[in-house]
Amino acid sequence: MSDIVSQIATLRAQIEEYNYQYYVLNDPSVPDAEYDRAMRELIGLENEHPDLITPDSPTQKVGGEALSAFEQVAHEVPMLSLDNVFDDEGFLAFTKRLQDRLGTSDVSFCCEPKLDGLAVSILYENGVLVRAATRGDGQTGENITANVRTITSVPLKLRGEGIPVRLEVRGEVFMPKAGFEQLNKRAAQLGEKQFANPRNAAAGSLRQLDSKITAKRPLAFYAYSTGVIEGDNQPPESHYQGLMRLKSWGLPVSTEVKVMTTESDVVAYYKDILARRAELPYEIDGVVLKVDSLVQQQTLGFVSRAPRWATAFKFPAEEELTLLEDVEFQV
Ligand code: NAD
Repeated sequence: MSDIVSQIATLRAQIEEYNYQYYVLNDPSVPDAEYDRAMRELIGLENEHPDLITPDSPTQKVGGEALSAFEQVAHEVPMLSLDNVFDDEGFLAFTKRLQDRLGTSDVSFCCEPKLDGLAVSILYENGVLVRAATRGDGQTGENITANVRTITSVPLKLRGEGIPVRLEVRGEVFMPKAGFEQLNKRAAQLGEKQFANPRNAAAGSLRQLDSKITAKRPLAFYAYSTGVIEGDNQPPESHYQGLMRLKSWGLPVSTEVKVMTTESDVVAYYKDILARRAELPYEIDGVVLKVDSLVQQQTLGFVSRAPRWATAFKFPAEEELTLLEDVEFQV
């Protein structure tokens, strides 16, 4: 037993360090696949020994802390993370859990690409952008309003009918592949440090103290959910309807978002996006599956760090992908 306790302590310390490097310093020390492996090992051990779970375990927490260089923003509705599945088996276990809890097999999913960027919250009051914040640790984020205002695809003012009085839009700020390549090319020409990947570049660009620097970076935004909403005369019934409403108000929503009604259609959606991964103009590391009915979402609720009604169906890591392709090529 003392072996298990020390194994858990070692994994937690290791993951805390990875989190610090990734979320606070924007400078990951290991590939995501390695991080995910360590996390899965810890979750496995904690599932076998639930009495050893502590509230400060990385399995119970979201992201990293907010940098004190920025003003802090308390999220009115916590910004959570997502649970992960890595294969069909994991996905089917996820849907089985949902169906058992809901007492029905009639569950549709809103399927979305999992953009590899940075989660942000953007608050509109009477249709006007008044504040933007990072996710931070899910409870407290960083005030990055001036930086978000420089992103061309983020409307400063919404358009159309029925806009709630207060509307918090959530989505991903990311750097499209083409912009990332240009940025790194220029950095190389100037002999400056290059970014490891587009996610890193997006995070580094958004958390600049000087918004003039952010304005020069090729950032983009897609909305994928909402937080606090007040004064909404016609609330949507499904997540997809909610996204289409955001689109009608001028917010960009990925054109790859689709509702699937059967498990096999969800798997087909995953495979289709995986096959087109390289062609997409932005980096993704999987697809996100969300129970589409908002009533069902409410019934399912949340656990400490993630909603029960959603999961990220992750793609194989790129380096593992290369190996797989090599094997297929040789055969
Ligand atoms: P996550 O990235 O697995 O999932 C949650 C996030 O997905 C959200 O916060 C949001 O930003 C994003 N997202 C993208 N598209 C979305 C959509 N359509 N709908 C909803 N959310 C969407 O969770 P996380 O807690 O941000 O990070 C964990 C992951 O980050 C790990 O699995 C690992 O891949 C990576 N990570 C790596 C290191 C490292 O050292 N390499 C360290 C920490 C985290």
